[in-house]
Amino acid sequence: MKRFLPQRLPDHLLIDTFAAFSRAKIWAEHFLPPNTLKTSKPPHFPRSPRHWFDPASLQFRLTVGVTTFSVLGLGGISSWTSWKMQEILVNTHTENITYLAERFPQDVQIYHESFPMQESLQFAIDKAPPNVLIWVETENSEIIAQSQAFENIEPALRERLFSLNEMPKEPEVYQVDRRYLVLCSDVLAVQNRTLGQVRMVQDITEDQLMLNRTMQGLRIITLLAIVLLAAIIAWYIKRSLRPLRRISQIASTISANDLSQAKMTLDKAPTEVKELAEKLNEMLSRLGLSWEQQRQLIGDISHELRTPLSVTYGSLQCIQRRGTSLNEMQQELLGTAISETDRTIQLLQSLLDLARADNSCTYVRSETLLLNDLVADVAKLTERGRNHCIKVEAEGDIWMTTDRNSLSQILTNLLDNAAKYSPPDQPIIVTLSQSEHDTLIEVRDYGCGIAPEQQERIFDRFYRVDNARSRATGGVGLGLAIVKTLVESMDGKISVWSQPEEGSSFKVTLPCQLHH
Ligand code: ADP
Repeated sequence: MKRFLPQRLPDHLLIDTFAAFSRAKIWAEHFLPPNTLKTSKPPHFPRSPRHWFDPASLQFRLTVGVTTFSVLGLGGISSWTSWKMQEILVNTHTENITYLAERFPQDVQIYHESFPMQESLQFAIDKAPPNVLIWVETENSEIIAQSQAFENIEPALRERLFSLNEMPKEPEVYQVDRRYLVLCSDVLAVQNRTLGQVRMVQDITEDQLMLNRTMQGLRIITLLAIVLLAAIIAWYIKRSLRPLRRISQIASTISANDLSQAKMTLDKAPTEVKELAEKLNEMLSRLGLSWEQQRQLIGDISHELRTPLSVTYGSLQCIQRRGTSLNEMQQELLGTAISETDRTIQLLQSLLDLARADNSCTYVRSETLLLNDLVADVAKLTERGRNHCIKVEAEGDIWMTTDRNSLSQILTNLLDNAAKYSPPDQPIIVTLSQSEHDTLIEVRDYGCGIAPEQQERIFDRFYRVDNARSRATGGVGLGLAIVKTLVESMDGKISVWSQPEEGSSFKVTLPCQLHH
């Protein structure tokens, strides 16, 4: 036997092993970036807050923009109409008064050719329309002639009018004691003799109040129109954005597994959105094809590398067992080669498990099983392999219809981790319970625990909390990624609670019935 043993460690064997390991590692890092290969289940896309007052949303911006322009447009038209109506009203009356004011001295002069001044003034005043009040005031504020209509108006208003000192030369509308009056005053000169001031007043309160009421109505109608328009605009924009929302809904349901079959089919969408959907479909089928090729490659390479590496591992172990003539350095190198080869084989096995987990939707085989038995079997195997005490606590017999292989793999990984990351004298407790629809499996350990900031990331591919520690325990950072992928492929959920130095608890919730 001895003569077959090499005196020196065969260099080519070591080189082959390291080369194979490096190849596997490079390949894994290249083809399996931690964040690109995600689970086979559609990932959970957090819904963006889509409510009316999300100022960043297109719907909100379009609605506010279009409504603002409409409000400005309608408001502008309404204001312009009110202003124009007011102007027409005022112009009509002021033109009338202007005409009277211009004619008055001429009339007085004509009458004065036949009558005394006082009578001429009165005749000219009486000639004016009854709704225009006229009085003539001397420089001493003495009223020498006035309209007869003054007798019919309230004394207070009469006093108020007579007491007005400053009146405009050009007719203007004033509000005097809740009445709207067109006022004007001018010097009255007849035959080059200044008699005083002729003052004219026309009461337009009725017309002004009617105009005010019309404008009030116009304002209410404009307001109602704005509200109605805003509602119609909001509804129309929401409806127009529906195809885009549909695209994001479809996109959120597409998983890595159905990339190539995924299709964004939109009926009655605008041409631009249809074009976008077509381009997305083309992109999806390209991505699907390359994802499929990549997955195929992962499976093939893992498989191809595992066999020669297993042979290498066996050979190295054989050399170690029989290599009594190896010096210390050779022993050390051989030990390193064996442990690295073992790690690489584990990595390849995990990759194969992951590829299988990614495909678990396709290869699922559901059967009805007694969970207590399955857990007990897996616990026994782990106890044997890891030399740990595992206690199983269950609320009676728990039956469920599920995929046995996937569930075994989940339990194996969780129990393996619990054993790896807790001291051997601490127990691991598996608790099983069941509600009407769900089965709960909790794996609790009293080990080193996980820091809160790491807990989110431990389910990522190739993520290890502490590389040195995981290396020592033989982990490659894929165990929990496989568990998560499998749990989600079985429509379940996984959560973790952990406190550093107090231990960890992984809770898996699975439906009692697997629907595939
Ligand atoms: P590994 O193969 O390195 O164990 P896993 O994906 O199984 O990879 O776990 C990822 C990381 O989560 C590990 O590196 C480890 O630090 C941490 N972890 C997982 N399970 C436990 C546990 N029960 N207790 C403490 N840490 C854990």
